[in-house]
Amino acid sequence: MFRKILIANRGEIACRVIATARRLGIATVAVYSEADVGARHARLADEAWPIGPAPARQSYLAADTILDVARRSGADGVHPGYGFLSENADFAAACAEAGVVFIGPPVAAIRAMGSKAESKALMERSGVPLVPGYHGEAQDLGTLAAAAARIGYPVLIKASAGGGGKGMRIVRSPGEIEAAIEGAQREALASFGHDRVLVEKYLTRPRHIEIQVFADSHGETVPLFERDCSIQRRHQKVLEEAPAPGMDPVRRRNMSEAAVAAARAVGYVGAGTVEFIAEGDGFYFMEMNTRLQVEHPVTEMVTGLDLVEWQLRVAAGEALPLAGDRIGLRGHAIEARVYAEDPARDFLPAVGTLSHLRQPREVPGRVRVDTGVVQGDRITSNYDPMIAKLIVWGEDRPAAVRQLVASLAEYEVVGMATNLGLLRAIAGHPAFAAAELDTGFIERHAEDLLPAGATAGEADPVVLAAAALTVLGERRLAAEAAQAGGDAWSPWGCTDAWRMNGPGHQDLSFRQGSSPPVPLRTRPQADGSLRVDWPGGSVLAASSEDERGQSLLVDGVSRRIGVIRRGAELTVIHAGRNHALVEVDPLAPPATQTFGSDRVTAPIPGRVARVMVRPGDVVERNASLMVVEAMKMEITLRAPQDGIVAEVRFAVDEMVEEGAELVTFAEEVPQP
Ligand code: ADP
Ligand code: ADP
Ligand code: MG
Repeated sequence: MFRKILIANRGEIACRVIATARRLGIATVAVYSEADVGARHARLADEAWPIGPAPARQSYLAADTILDVARRSGADGVHPGYGFLSENADFAAACAEAGVVFIGPPVAAIRAMGSKAESKALMERSGVPLVPGYHGEAQDLGTLAAAAARIGYPVLIKASAGGGGKGMRIVRSPGEIEAAIEGAQREALASFGHDRVLVEKYLTRPRHIEIQVFADSHGETVPLFERDCSIQRRHQKVLEEAPAPGMDPVRRRNMSEAAVAAARAVGYVGAGTVEFIAEGDGFYFMEMNTRLQVEHPVTEMVTGLDLVEWQLRVAAGEALPLAGDRIGLRGHAIEARVYAEDPARDFLPAVGTLSHLRQPREVPGRVRVDTGVVQGDRITSNYDPMIAKLIVWGEDRPAAVRQLVASLAEYEVVGMATNLGLLRAIAGHPAFAAAELDTGFIERHAEDLLPAGATAGEADPVVLAAAALTVLGERRLAAEAAQAGGDAWSPWGCTDAWRMNGPGHQDLSFRQGSSPPVPLRTRPQADGSLRVDWPGGSVLAASSEDERGQSLLVDGVSRRIGVIRRGAELTVIHAGRNHALVEVDPLAPPATQTFGSDRVTAPIPGRVARVMVRPGDVVERNASLMVVEAMKMEITLRAPQDGIVAEVRFAVDEMVEEGAELVTFAEEVPQP
């Protein structure tokens, strides 16, 4: 067994690997970039070594630097996690050369499965079913278009070296194919360094079902059941579960056998996942991920196994700890990926500081939270926008869904947009309860799942009362502090709303979203509670605090509530939902419009992937100007109006900050 391993990764998966290593008495070495100084994974490890600047290419993908740390720290193994170097055959080979064990499959297996096209050809020869498609070497438009016509539209163009949904285009008719191929090739070249693409039949209502496999170096390969990962956005997983609803023993056996055949065909060793796309009774090989998968915890929950422990044992040369027929499946597990992204803005990744983070209570065997962040950490555009994974277990699927709903309700994140609202909406949706799963689920139920402008509408009495109590409480504290340092008897320090005439009151005003501000009149009562009136409502409110946090009593009903204050902004967390309010100062002048619609600014920090215009170009409204890439997506910036480009402020590959002005326009309007 290993004495000391280096974890060549960050975030939740680095923390996850460290936990198992620690349990097995293996020392751990973390590596961290300049963006991750003091990060959770670096603090959990026995040693933490700096490996360079924030961009992954200069740190977490810097194979030489990482191997150098492995050597200098005396690590005898390297666990690559997922993403980054995990499926990089050259890195695995370099580990072997440096005399450290790569905790993953053999170099040849990574290489064989690294190309979606090559692996499909191999699977075809091994009798594993494939979606009708073309995965040949010829890449000219004629060949690809002819293949598409033969397969029948719609088709999917995929980057052979692709991953993370990049380099993928749906083509619905022959007229779109040229542009789609060009786009997929460009994206593939930029992200993976190869522009080879393949064409396959685009299934319109498929499920994503994958089989976890494990193989040791003694010739044993076992399947560890399936996971259903059909709840996706932008062809990327959001919720995963095990077992797959509706899986019967025959289908499970057939899929498991196909997966084991796939693994055997490449001489696989270690943890791997064979992904299938399934429609009707059919299932087709999509790709094999030669690493630990993000969603491996659902398999752990239903089998009671620790897959990282298995990885370590197998990499150390041991036999698989359990024979295939001794691995049982118990109950049902679901994982929800909590992402910093805005579902209402086409899942645009979000960045910011986690000014408040409260995770659901963990219950061994039932509720597990895998995360790499703590309150106060920043989510940046350098890496994946995943904040955490929530994994729940129940005796059966309905019990697991109930637990998911309950645990999601406990999640509190303030500081950036998250997909928590979407996750809650899915978890509570009747179609999800009925297990009507396919990859179009989110899109099909978008109206129920992505309520546009949900903040507008009726004022919520609980939210208003919480905001009023918070602001008045702060004023009292401030006044008390002022009194302590000054004239204790000054009437100006008095905050109990006492007035010379009439009943005492203080007026406040809060705005929610784009709704007009709601004016509140508050009156302290003799018993310490507060009467809050606004046009359309009135409540009696009081707050109390105990070790579990703050409670709010509104008209006799007590509720757990959290209020986070940042400047004039208040976030009231009520029933797991964030309500953002702005305290409006009635004496402040009306806000002036500082961001005209004529500015083209970066919506999030990222890298300039493409520039389509030059100074002097005459462009029409909505013309594409620039493509900014951040995390796993490309954002096209368009012209806000007809005009002449004056300045293009950034070039390809430059990093831009959020809000940076990218393109400016000349004053004059082009003459016809
Ligand atoms: P999986 O198939 O395990 O669900 P995905 O297909 O979502 O994983 O993505 C492949 C892996 O690459 C994921 O583990 C993802 O987190 C990782 N990944 C993709 N882009 C990045 C990035 N920029 N930084 C770190 N990890 C990344
Ligand atoms: P990645 O490397 O990004 O994981 P995959 O080939 O695994 O790429 O596909 C990712 C997702 O794209 C699948 O989970 C599925 O939702 C969708 N997809 C892939 N192939 C097809 C297909 N032939 N028809 C319909 N959807 C597909
Ligand atoms: Mg995949």
